[in-house]
Amino acid sequence: MATVDLNHKAIVFTDFDGTITLTDSNDYLVDNIGFGYTQRRTLGAEILAGRLSFRDGFHAMLSSVSPHKTMSECRDILLSHIQLDPGFKVFYEWCQTQDIPVIILSSGMEPLIRALLEKLLGPDEKIEILANGVKEWEGGWEIVFHDESHFGHDKSRAIKPFKEARGKLAEGVEKPVFFYCGDGVSDLSAARETDLLFAKAGHDLIKYCQAENVPYKVFDDFSDIMRDVKSVVEGVKTAADVAENR
Ligand SMILES: [Mg+2]
Repeated sequence: MATVDLNHKAIVFTDFDGTITLTDSNDYLVDNIGFGYTQRRTLGAEILAGRLSFRDGFHAMLSSVSPHKTMSECRDILLSHIQLDPGFKVFYEWCQTQDIPVIILSSGMEPLIRALLEKLLGPDEKIEILANGVKEWEGGWEIVFHDESHFGHDKSRAIKPFKEARGKLAEGVEKPVFFYCGDGVSDLSAARETDLLFAKAGHDLIKYCQAENVPYKVFDDFSDIMRDVKSVVEGVKTAADVAENR
C-alpha cells in the first residue's frame, strides 16, 4: 500500500506497460514467446466484453510464456526490446522538481518493471511501484497476483485511501489534484478514481471510457500529459477543463 501523503500539489498514478513504455512488455512476451498475437487479442476481447476476468486471461497469457523462458531470460529479452515513452523521463524529472509523486500501478510483474525503469531512468530512480509479483522455482515461474480481485491487481484500491484522506481535509486547505495515466483493460478499475484520466491514443481504455461515459483526455506521449498536468498545477486550467467526453 502506498503511503498516503497529501502534502503535494498533485499526485500522478500511472500504468506502466504501454503507458510509460512504448510497447506492453507482457504483450511482447506473449506475442513473441507465448501463444501469439491472435490468441492474445481473442482473450483481450473476451476480457473487454466482461466474459473473462483480467486475472484469468492474463494468467493464461503468461502461462504460455513460462514453459519457454526463465524469468531472467524474459528480463533480458525485455531490456533489449522495450523502449520508454520519449516524454516520460522529462516528465518524471519535472515532477521531482515540483515534489509531485509518481506512483506506478501495474498489472505487470515488479522485478521486470524495476529492471526496465533502472535501465531507462538510471540506477537512482526511486519510483514507487505497486504491481504483481513472481514466484520462481527450479525450471519455472508464475505470476503472483497482488490481491484477490478479478483484476488480479485492483488499481482502484491504491487510489481510494488518497481520495478518502483528501475528502477529510478541512475547507481552505490546499488539496492535491489526482491524475491517472493508462492505456488498457488493466486500467479499467482505476479509470473513475482520479480527477483527470489520461488515456493513450488508439488503445482499449478509450473504447471503455466512451462506452461507460468516463471523462478522459487523449495523449500520444508524456509530453502531452506534462503540458496538461502543468496547466492544472499552475492554475491555468482545471482538471474538468482538460477532460473530454464529458
Ligand atoms: Mg497498460
